[in-house]
Amino acid sequence: MEFARGRIAFIRGGSYPHCHSVLIDDAIRAVIDASSSRERLLEFHAGRGIDVIITSHAHEDHFLYNSLFPDAQLWVHGADARAFTDLRHFIEIFQPGAEEAALWEGYLKDVVRYAPRTVNRELCDNDRLDFGVTSALVLHTPGHTPGHCSFHFPEERIMYLADWDLVSAGPYYGDPNSDLELTIASLERLMGYDVDTYLTAHGKGVHDGDPGIIAAYLDKIRQREDHLMELLEQGPKTLAEIAAQGIIYGKAKTIGIWDLGLSERNMMLKHLEKLMRQGLVASDGDRYRIVR
Ligand SMILES: [Zn+2]
Ligand SMILES: [Zn+2]
Repeated sequence: MEFARGRIAFIRGGSYPHCHSVLIDDAIRAVIDASSSRERLLEFHAGRGIDVIITSHAHEDHFLYNSLFPDAQLWVHGADARAFTDLRHFIEIFQPGAEEAALWEGYLKDVVRYAPRTVNRELCDNDRLDFGVTSALVLHTPGHTPGHCSFHFPEERIMYLADWDLVSAGPYYGDPNSDLELTIASLERLMGYDVDTYLTAHGKGVHDGDPGIIAAYLDKIRQREDHLMELLEQGPKTLAEIAAQGIIYGKAKTIGIWDLGLSERNMMLKHLEKLMRQGLVASDGDRYRIVR
């Protein structure tokens, strides 16, 4: 579903490494997440040019086409900024082995056309972005990545949630620098805004601004944790045994270069670490068990 309100338009992208984009056609012309349709983005650029590219966070499926617009300013949150200026740093975030790192480097250079570039503005929480008639407030909503941002358009009553994408699988916090507790805090915060429309970077894209939808998405985290606790009730388990259960993604699969088995493992580990901090789970060597 396409969507437009005021000077804001929404362009759908396909599956990974694409996402949906938000266009702002105002005195300052901006794109948030230039990773949707190459043709549509170039068409927008062919008008009066694109002045600013905003990338909601440092994941390649949100900056796939940034390289097409080298003269535009790049605005990203400070906590994710270095991923745009330093390819090595970006790859290191995922803590890959040597072979995997080489694979990633090839992919980012050949497919994503990654080229280090200057970050012209480091976004901060509550920054007001003025495009002309249209303005947006930056909401720093970390957890997915440290610098993940959502964008609130108060006048148009729109919230672009970016990768808090409301998909049925639930939220993603599977990178080494993702954070489960921050994910929960960010989603709780986003539920507090009164808007008519949520836009997301993946999945359906356009949603009613109903906080109940975010609540259901947030509840996936509790369901995952309940399943994990049920599993541990059966006896101590290693992380590999827990990940093999596929509580989050079911049977291990890949999406492009992403290994969801690895995401499953990383996310389960974040749940175990949270439960250990809460004193509900303990580890004996490489086995995790319920604290009685
Ligand atoms: Zn992402
Ligand atoms: Zn994404």
